Amino acid sequence: MDTDLLIIGGGPAGCAAAVMAASVGMRSVLIEADDALCGALRRIPVVSNVLGAASGPDLAATIEADLARCDLCRVELGGRATLVEGFDDRVEVTVEPVESVEPVEPVRLGEPVRLGEPVRLGEPVRLGEPVGSIKPVEPTEPVEPVKPVKPVGSAWVRGSRLTARYVVVATGVGPLGPEEAGWLGGVAGRALPPLWEADPAAIDDRTVLVLGADRPLGTVARAHPELRTRFVVAYPPEDVYKTEEIRRDARVELVAVRRLEFGSGSAPVTAEIRTVEGERRTLTADLAFLNLGSAPAPPAGAVVADRAGYCPPGRQHPRVFTAGDLRSARFQRIATAMGSGGEAALGAYYASRGLPTGTGGGPSTEVGGPPPDPAGGG
Ligand SMILES: Cc1cc2nc3c(=O)[nH]c(=O)nc-3n(C[C@H](O)[C@H](O)[C@H](O)COP(=O)(O)OP(=O)(O)OC[C@H]3O[C@@H](n4cnc5c(N)ncnc54)[C@H](O)[C@@H]3O)c2cc1C
Repeated sequence: MDTDLLIIGGGPAGCAAAVMAASVGMRSVLIEADDALCGALRRIPVVSNVLGAASGPDLAATIEADLARCDLCRVELGGRATLVEGFDDRVEVTVEPVESVEPVEPVRLGEPVRLGEPVRLGEPVRLGEPVGSIKPVEPTEPVEPVKPVKPVGSAWVRGSRLTARYVVVATGVGPLGPEEAGWLGGVAGRALPPLWEADPAAIDDRTVLVLGADRPLGTVARAHPELRTRFVVAYPPEDVYKTEEIRRDARVELVAVRRLEFGSGSAPVTAEIRTVEGERRTLTADLAFLNLGSAPAPPAGAVVADRAGYCPPGRQHPRVFTAGDLRSARFQRIATAMGSGGEAALGAYYASRGLPTGTGGGPSTEVGGPPPDPAGGG
């Protein structure tokens, strides 16, 4: 065996699993595809629901320092786990090296936008001006798309295999693409960067068409109260519950749509919509961003997914534990990710001692109440 516990994913769930495993004496190897831990946290400027943390980057730095001090955990960056296999006595995980990409320059006003197909910046929009009256501007030069430059995972060769007694899978969720949103049309070949990548300077004083009402909109709005951006948010009716966070922000116009079809031009961006009330309108904006939400993408093999692609802990192979956002479309928060990561590691520990691993609620795992904790509370 290479180690006691393999951990796939170095977000808050995977990192919490690593320190919890160490606290009960288990050795672990944490495999992270990116070239740093907690990449998602680094994109959350303001955090208000995690004890002891006020910003994502600060929390990521603290977690990174905790992992660096954790002697029983080895962190391996730049490797993507592609296959998890569960056997009676072990798990095996196949890892492939990941190619890094050249960093993308932040978008600044007056400069060409560097993400895929050129997006053109329009004239500044005065607050209160109707969306339909933005003037087009001259097109800017297209630029090269982002290219892979070098592998970041020095330790990984193609098809590396690691074995352990247990695995925690904490690979989170990734952004949904426009082709996965049935209500969007005319998106083929169109550059639609995610909203959380938007450079605040590039959207200030602009009208921005936001496709979908997912949480990053609230994060951007909360983190940048100074922005005079007009956010025109087109979203499908089933996402109405996501709009609570931004409903009272005067910069936001919410438009529930059945269908949105992009026009051919991109300076300005135009889209024909059919609202839930059946009204037909044209939306016009300087820029368009995706904000559709996310979906899980676990490694292939033994990780069991439900119909929506999520991987509930209770349905896994006895040597596979899932944690964090991967578990469910709900409970996707930093604190719950950390809690579930810690639980997953303790689950592996209890299993290694032949003890039930459930957290209660099901008669099959903990008849007669939970066992005493041999770890003494960690
Ligand atoms: C814009 C935005 C704002 C948010 N704001 C808040 C907030 O204010 N408060 C809050 O509580 N939550 C917030 N969240 C949610 C929070 O970020 C997540 O709930 C949390 O990061 C989930 O942690 P995780 O470890 O499950 O997944 P992630 O943080 O996504 O980590 C998963 C890791 O696994 C890696 N990985 C994926 N696949 C593989 C693979 N095959 N092999 C190896 N590594 C892999 C990824 O690179 C990633 O580092 C926000 C999310 C977003 C997108």
